[in-house]
Amino acid sequence: MQTTDFAKLADLLFPAPLPAPQEWEERFPPRDLPEGARVTRFAPSPTGHMHLGNLFSAFMSERTAHATGGRFLVRIEDTDRKREVADGVAAILQDLAGFGFTVDEGVVAADRQTGDYGPYFQRARKAIYHTYARELVLAGLAYPCFCSEGELAALRARQEEQKITPGYYGRYAACRTLTLDEIEARLHTGDPYVLRLRSPGREDGRVTLDDLVKGKMELPENVQDVVLLKSDGIPTYHFAHAVDDHFMRVTHVVRGDEWIASAPIHLQLFRVLGFKPPKYAHIAPLMKEENGGKRKLSKRKDPEAAVSYYFEQGYPAASVREYLLTIANSNFEEWRRANPNAPQSDFPFNLKKMSPSGALVDLAKFQDVSKNVIARLSAEEVTEAALQWAKRYRPALYERLSADVAFTRGVFAIDRGGAKPRKDLACFSEVEDYTAYFFAPPREYDWPQNLPPAEAARVLRAYLPVYDEAAEKEGWFAAMRGLCPALDYSPDVKTYKQNPAAYRGHVGDVSTAVRVGVTGRRNTPDLYAIMRLLGGEECRRRLNAALLALSGEAL
Ligand code: GLU
Repeated sequence: MQTTDFAKLADLLFPAPLPAPQEWEERFPPRDLPEGARVTRFAPSPTGHMHLGNLFSAFMSERTAHATGGRFLVRIEDTDRKREVADGVAAILQDLAGFGFTVDEGVVAADRQTGDYGPYFQRARKAIYHTYARELVLAGLAYPCFCSEGELAALRARQEEQKITPGYYGRYAACRTLTLDEIEARLHTGDPYVLRLRSPGREDGRVTLDDLVKGKMELPENVQDVVLLKSDGIPTYHFAHAVDDHFMRVTHVVRGDEWIASAPIHLQLFRVLGFKPPKYAHIAPLMKEENGGKRKLSKRKDPEAAVSYYFEQGYPAASVREYLLTIANSNFEEWRRANPNAPQSDFPFNLKKMSPSGALVDLAKFQDVSKNVIARLSAEEVTEAALQWAKRYRPALYERLSADVAFTRGVFAIDRGGAKPRKDLACFSEVEDYTAYFFAPPREYDWPQNLPPAEAARVLRAYLPVYDEAAEKEGWFAAMRGLCPALDYSPDVKTYKQNPAAYRGHVGDVSTAVRVGVTGRRNTPDLYAIMRLLGGEECRRRLNAALLALSGEAL
């Protein structure tokens, strides 16, 4: 075909008027951002709720934008109707919002977009894609292909049999050589066709990909005449990626490393379109340890792979984000130790510090991280978060916690704040058990071995008359210590340890008896604070009930 034929072909394929490329360039000018500010995007297909891997790459994308004073946008890649699910967009946005993502631009609700570089739904961008598809036709770099599925399958089978690289390329690209008349005739009969790239790649060609996570890679140049527009005129991922990331002025593409194999296609498309390619950061999938080995975190096998798991268990969004930062950048933990109360957004996140081989997800470690996060919250914040979670996932618990919010806040205030807050809670589904004895007297008592029932009863019988609910902490403890001589206990643990044979027990055993009597448990937060919150009447009632259970007689 001659250059004049390309012009005729372009008119045949795109009969309706389209804007000139320059118009798009002017409408979406380079962004006015400070030097070094990165523009990134999360570009999900609307296939429903996210899994942790998606969330991870979205978060890395968001962090790199905001750590550099740039912008993070959300674009919906809705070019594949077959994979779409109803409410898929809403589900993704709900997950993003649930994890506290700041989206600057793009699709912010299922029916709402913000920003000057839209539309941000690919299906609404047909005119832009067609403008550039037409440009490629004009340049002789794209042509219609009428081959049917059957013909393509037969080609592939032949190539496999001959042990040559399969695909539609070079001399195997039958429709490359159609004449303008042939094309016109087939268009006339209404034969369906796709638009293919006439790849300028060479079979021995190589391209370099300087990936921010994986480092420098040399890959074979693309030779395939990949499809640019499908038979319904909708672009393929490859073509839309090049056009959209150029016109949304995206500087850094953070995506899963399953796309590395297609990167040569993308680099070639940016080149033939005359666009500067973005920088790439290909992220390895999240991994999990199993039987001493590593495998990919699996949507099918691992409940923690679904982001809904974290919502249902009641992990704060901040815990998930904190943990993802921990596995993303190995210097995060050190930073956190040095800056225990700084907001996560202050961390100088760096894509280059990500592991090229895939971060390991370890639930036990995650729980520790989450305990630290919850321990840093104020009593008001924990109460609010626990109430919100319970309202949605445990209505009965919600009733209990919301009946007297000041009391609930008091429960969460115990051992909170200060230099060494207690780290009991990893998630809100633990709240029910953690707070149980505040809302109801114990039904079982976990007496330790060194306090047999008769001994525990002896202690409680001695303690009840001296218990003073109005005492300050020191006086409260002094009362326990004061019982020791009569009980033949040591007033402190140290003396007891020096000469255990001389005493039956020590003051710690007194407080244990009281603790188990009041709460049923051996391990609780500050007992004084618990008793203050429960009040004298309730504590006395509980100690008497314990005594009754131990000895058959109350005081
Ligand atoms: N829509 C693509 C996907 O869901 C996005 C890949 C990309 O970020 O470029 O896998």
